[in-house]
Amino acid sequence: MIRGAFELVAIVGSPIAQVKSPENFNTWFVNNNRAVAMLPIDLHAQALDSFATTLRGWQNLRGCVVTVPYKQAMATCVDSLSVRAAALGSVNVIRREPNGRLLGDNVDGAGFLGAALKHGFTASGRRALVVGCGGVGSAIAYALGEAGIARLSLTDPSSARCAALCELLGHTFAELEIDTQVDDLGAFDLVVNASPVGMGDDAQLPLPAALVATLQPHTLVADVVTSPEITPLLARARLAGCRIQTGAQMAFAQLGHLGAFMGVTPLEI
Ligand code: NAD
Repeated sequence: MIRGAFELVAIVGSPIAQVKSPENFNTWFVNNNRAVAMLPIDLHAQALDSFATTLRGWQNLRGCVVTVPYKQAMATCVDSLSVRAAALGSVNVIRREPNGRLLGDNVDGAGFLGAALKHGFTASGRRALVVGCGGVGSAIAYALGEAGIARLSLTDPSSARCAALCELLGHTFAELEIDTQVDDLGAFDLVVNASPVGMGDDAQLPLPAALVATLQPHTLVADVVTSPEITPLLARARLAGCRIQTGAQMAFAQLGHLGAFMGVTPLEI
């Protein structure tokens, strides 16, 4: 039951019916006796600017999670951005300050690293491969850079996206070694699929099968795809004896980061 005295948070995207955040957050709010509720909002792209204006004036709203396809567009609508959100040009969460100002952040990478830590992976001094240089791949690569990864390999069929991410990371993390040529996976501490390949009924691998066959058991293999939970890549990695991290684990690890930024949950939930 949402009562008149409740504070609200929202999640905006289009479509929105598939998102899990409302049930995850609302379960946490109920279980922790918080008078807060999350609303799912399916917004037409033409309404984005006026939505931002509405957020500024919406006095019982604490913040808004932003999902596909508005992460980049909303970054241009808020009043200020965290350093990482500005670098990435995308937001996945907005906090509404009491004076109506909107602050944007992107915690996709922090959520990923939080989940990886639970699998025993720490980035400092390690070597990682990020497959896919789009929105989420860029956020993960940036977070790995912030966490002190020593060497990062990047792949994407879009050479323009790959080059843009190389430039951003090279410019931001002077010590980081970056390459785009991968012939063997044996030396990687982390391999992450940050592309949609493997989603739904798509039984594809995001890397050539011969390359996947070079995986060694010491590597943590992660996927951002949430459905199916065990993607074709994760199934191969498990057979190779690797630890695996699912997209659902990454999504769940983000909840505390999203909630804490909006000021409605602690960081650890
Ligand atoms: P995007 O469209 O911005 O980027 C996808 C990138 O993957 C593109 O650059 C594309 O060229 C690249 N790509 C396609 N095939 C590839 C291949 N074989 N090898 C390497 N790169 C390839 O999309 P996005 O917003 O980054 O989302 C990607 C996926 O991440 C989606 O499936 C989304 O649902 C998922 N996602 C999961 C979480 C989570 O918490 N688990 C969070 C955000 C996004």
